[in-house]
Amino acid sequence: MEGQDGMSKTLSIGWTVLAKNAPRPRLNCGRCGKVQSFHSSGKIRLNANGRKLDAWLVYKCTHCNATWNRPVIERIPINTLSKSYLTALETSDETMVRRFEFEVGGLAYFTHQIEWERGLLIQRHLVSPMSEDWSSATILIRTPVRLHIRVERLMSYALDISRADCRNLFLEGGMKIRRPSGQQIWRGPVKTEMEIDVQRCVLKTSSLLRLY
Ligand SMILES: [Zn+2]
Repeated sequence: MEGQDGMSKTLSIGWTVLAKNAPRPRLNCGRCGKVQSFHSSGKIRLNANGRKLDAWLVYKCTHCNATWNRPVIERIPINTLSKSYLTALETSDETMVRRFEFEVGGLAYFTHQIEWERGLLIQRHLVSPMSEDWSSATILIRTPVRLHIRVERLMSYALDISRADCRNLFLEGGMKIRRPSGQQIWRGPVKTEMEIDVQRCVLKTSSLLRLY
């Protein structure tokens, strides 16, 4: 970090970005007699068969509450699973459930119709010590579960600026992707880990307040 004698100061900021709502598969509901969307119940069901374990994440029809069991573990020898993993399964551990819920690849095995509700949850915090005269900030973005959203859309949402303004900031250098390399990445999907530099002078007060 530069600093001291009149040189520019950079703030380091961390954002953890999560989707508010898990994707919902659309499946044929036997009780409704048609395709409906299903939501996760947050509960894991287990069945031990001899020394092998099956686990399902239980979904419910949003219309009639009929259940659908989504396989998450199939016939895995119990002795190959760690105690903590087993406990997490048995207690429907929130973090584990959330990870299963967001594994879209796994869902796509059962249906091609997946509803992805928009809405992001951004946990922001200051990584470096606060300095009043900072001139630029590096935002370290982490997305623990894959988000199907473009970088420019995330930044315009997070900083409350229009998509057009956001695009201009990337084009004119007010915002720059530091990592991974490649300046055009802002047009593409958000990666698991990214670093974006933003100049203080290009942000309005309302956006500055949303940084951390
Ligand atoms: Zn139903």
